[in-house]
Amino acid sequence: MRASFSQGVAATYADSQRAMASDISRSRREFLRLALGATTASSAMFGYGTGSTVTPQRNPKVIVVTFGGGARDEETFMPDGQENIPHLMGELIPQSTFYTQVVNRGILGHYVATASLATGAYETFNNFAAVPPTNPTVFEYFRKDLKRPANDVWVVAPSNGFNRIGESGNRNFGPGFGANVVLPKRLLAAALSPGGSALYEHLLRDNYETPLYAPELSGSGLSLHDIAELLKISVADFTAHARSLSSPDELSVFIARQLMKQLAPSLLWVTLHDIDVAHSGSYSLYLEAIKRSDRLCADLWNAVGSNPEYAGRTSMFIMPDFGRDSDEAAGGNGFQHHRTGDALSRTTWMMALGAGIRQNFVVDRAVETTDLVPTLGARLRFSTGQSQGKPLVELV
Ligand SMILES: [Zn+2]
Repeated sequence: MRASFSQGVAATYADSQRAMASDISRSRREFLRLALGATTASSAMFGYGTGSTVTPQRNPKVIVVTFGGGARDEETFMPDGQENIPHLMGELIPQSTFYTQVVNRGILGHYVATASLATGAYETFNNFAAVPPTNPTVFEYFRKDLKRPANDVWVVAPSNGFNRIGESGNRNFGPGFGANVVLPKRLLAAALSPGGSALYEHLLRDNYETPLYAPELSGSGLSLHDIAELLKISVADFTAHARSLSSPDELSVFIARQLMKQLAPSLLWVTLHDIDVAHSGSYSLYLEAIKRSDRLCADLWNAVGSNPEYAGRTSMFIMPDFGRDSDEAAGGNGFQHHRTGDALSRTTWMMALGAGIRQNFVVDRAVETTDLVPTLGARLRFSTGQSQGKPLVELV
């Protein structure tokens, strides 16, 4: 349901936010046009969406990649930032339908915002509580309606605080249809011999925003042994591989690729979190994380293309949960945090690419982060009854 404002202060505020959001959208389109327009033959590029027919695929698969903590346009889509995202700019965006104005009207905390993406409804629980989403998740809608087994739906989550994201607490929907949730850091911690963790501190850091926050873990997750068995990788190999990685997101993508190889889930949700190192105030680490996220998105897309279970029948959706503060906003401090709730931190983007999705296509109208789940439902033919968003017409 769209928020509606009548008169007075709320209306003025909303209008100015809306105007800023469309400015952001317009400038994103212009940056993309300048960077890509000359090399793109398609006449559809930069046209406005009018809807497209999607040929139903046999056994369609979906991969969703979210960033817990987005990046500013200055470091990404603007001319000086484009060198940080060569894979998105050069490989993925030209193949995608790109939404320049995806508005998040919810709470700007990573767990609650990612849960809202996954339910298609603005969740309102405390971001730092170990609780399940209130509304049914896309994982449950998908499994229940399409009668899919547990191993067909997986979530790879960046922090131990995400361990309840796979299944809602919604009683009307009923338990037992959730996703498997892998928490790679938890696996790594379990794999380490006592005293060995200092080597891996950079991989185990759980939360950049509140370093003292230690999330509670419920005991229902899969054990290291179970996961190793499913992924057909020994605990020793897993640990050895982890040693060669430079960040938690690399570990997450490694696990995601193993899942694709061994179980080929139809719905795979990967949440990346490295960019949120920005909270530490280190601009160079923030830039490095943007470059890494860019590379990891391309890695995942390449894994789709080289895996016969996925090639030709997979669509991938990439979006940050929300943005970062503006330098200009009162109380804002630029790249570091997302505390003001200004238009910049609420106006994110999304790209969709793959089977049945129009390439080289940019959509400017305002859509919402809650539209993702109904769009997936419409594409894959399952109902998402309690979600608040609307299917995106260009993708269904
Ligand atoms: Zn953050």
